[in-house]
Amino acid sequence: MTKLIIFDLDGTLVESKQPLTEHMAALFAQLLAVTRVAVISGGALPQFMKQVIAPLPDEANLSHLSLLPTSGAAFYEYHAGEWKKIYEERLSEKEVHTIETAMREAAKETGLIDFSTKAWGERIEYRGGQITLSALGQQAPLVEKKEWDPTHTKRHALQANIAARLPEFSVGIGGATSIDVTKRGIDKAYGIHKLCDRLGIAESEALYVGDELVKGGNDEAVYKTDIQTKSVNNPAETVKLIESFLTTA
Ligand SMILES: [Mg+2]
Repeated sequence: MTKLIIFDLDGTLVESKQPLTEHMAALFAQLLAVTRVAVISGGALPQFMKQVIAPLPDEANLSHLSLLPTSGAAFYEYHAGEWKKIYEERLSEKEVHTIETAMREAAKETGLIDFSTKAWGERIEYRGGQITLSALGQQAPLVEKKEWDPTHTKRHALQANIAARLPEFSVGIGGATSIDVTKRGIDKAYGIHKLCDRLGIAESEALYVGDELVKGGNDEAVYKTDIQTKSVNNPAETVKLIESFLTTA
């Protein structure tokens, strides 16, 4: 029996950086009424608030929801009307500087990102427990992002180059154009371990749903846990999955 369902965000519950659709928000609230739910993604908490929390109907049972922003580097629960931080593995100023330098050097050496050209918003964003490099900028249009690296080749090249410069950190593929860097050992597997521990739920009784459960994909780390997995190609498939779960729950 599944006691906890953990969702990836972009590409799984929503299109990149978009809010939950009305239909998805309604289904998500129904799910919260019958089971524990969590969302784990590379975005920081404000991004979760915009994409997940704001669109939910008022009656949604938020006490059944756990949020793990920045790929599990932070963990929030809802208590007495507000989101309370359970932990955050923040990067120090010195670490931020080291990571930014490595990102810029890797961008230059691979020739994949030219920082002298204009981007849609910041290319390097500090998110507390994580730093994210977005090739086209944080606010790039979805269509541009999807076209940039459909085969993952560019992201793998950037990831490998940055990882070689930062052996003391975890370097992973984020979204369609991005690379995420956290403290070493912090990834979605870390977040799932922490979450299941705190809720007292065995990992084998939890289900992870993501759109990048492939080798090199940004959900790959979850295979280091004992969690069950379900791969989806897009939010429409996640809708079907939630609907079938609700009919059997
Ligand atoms: Mg995804």
